[in-house]
Amino acid sequence: MRGDGQRPSPRISPFPLQCRHYAANRPRRDAPCPPSPEIPFRDLFWGLHVALLRPAHLYSGGLEGYAESVSDDVFPLYREETVATTVAMLRDVLLPRVIGKTFNSPEAIAAVNAPFKGNRMAKAVIEMAFWDLWSRSLNTPLSRLLGGTRESVPVGVSLGIQPSAEATVEIVARHVAQGYKRIKLKIKPGWEITPVSAVRAVFPDITMTVDANSAYTYADLKTFRRLDQFGLDYIEQPLAFDDIVDHAKLQAAIQTALCLDESIQSAADCRKALELRAARVINIKVGRVGGHAEARRVHDVAAAFDAPVWCGGMVESGIGRAHNIHLATLPNFSKPGDTSSASRYWDADIVNEPLETVDGMMPVPAGPGIGVTLNRAVLEKVTEAVEVLGP
Ligand SMILES: [Mg+2]
Repeated sequence: MRGDGQRPSPRISPFPLQCRHYAANRPRRDAPCPPSPEIPFRDLFWGLHVALLRPAHLYSGGLEGYAESVSDDVFPLYREETVATTVAMLRDVLLPRVIGKTFNSPEAIAAVNAPFKGNRMAKAVIEMAFWDLWSRSLNTPLSRLLGGTRESVPVGVSLGIQPSAEATVEIVARHVAQGYKRIKLKIKPGWEITPVSAVRAVFPDITMTVDANSAYTYADLKTFRRLDQFGLDYIEQPLAFDDIVDHAKLQAAIQTALCLDESIQSAADCRKALELRAARVINIKVGRVGGHAEARRVHDVAAAFDAPVWCGGMVESGIGRAHNIHLATLPNFSKPGDTSSASRYWDADIVNEPLETVDGMMPVPAGPGIGVTLNRAVLEKVTEAVEVLGP
């Protein structure tokens, strides 16, 4: 069942939106080994920002829909949006147009703010919370409304840059033993051949990828040709986020598939990239593309080009992670996603349900909506500030 039909409509009430700030990347205090560089992506500043959309009492009983912004904490290093820009957009532009109004589908609420350029992560907060609320009101798992059928999704792991090749092999070995279906190594100029060749020497057959987060240019072609020898499943976002043309040139010049992440903000971006043969694989992050409806359109466009997709992650709490897992149940998510165990990142999650992989598979949280409930005690403990938004 897809969520396009005319159905009873949850009402978004005048309740305020609460934005809670809390720090990301808290090392697990009970981790079996000392906090290690796997606590992710040390080359980047990652932060987390959770927004809770508090809707009205719907039907009988109060329901809430949850979403989480994936904008950067302070510095716009992934794309342009940060917590500050997201809060400003929600407060000044997006929320005043939806609070107190009634919408009968997630597409309808997204359409209200569609005329405004960019700011997809801010828009996604509202859209995704509505999907959660809507599916809870229909007593249906979000995955079913999106059109997904799986009960669990295959999961890979994304490993940050390690201090040495030995440390890279060690952390890979640990995660291979945990059953992850794909190992992704972050790379940067000058640190790609060494870690990849070291891992391949020990694990010749694992599914392995690398992610450059736009750190290279086409002038690095020689390096990418050298990477061809390692049988990588794909190379993720090697070049600039706004450069489809050089990605197309690079894809034509090497054998390994390219995967686009930062470059794809919409189904239109996806169509253009695949038409220009700038990649053969697409990473979908629901926050990056503005919500589930657009994520599903990206998925469908990629399928039309026979390009597999997979679900990326942004070091979310259990709220964003649950959204990602539900999305990843759609059929063209045929490569393992980045929805790895929450315990890799958190001392304690802000949801009650443990989101943990079993043999490289992440079970889809059962129950209506995104299938998780808030652990309010943990949420209170980690909250650093609360800002009430809305008219
Ligand atoms: Mg990436």
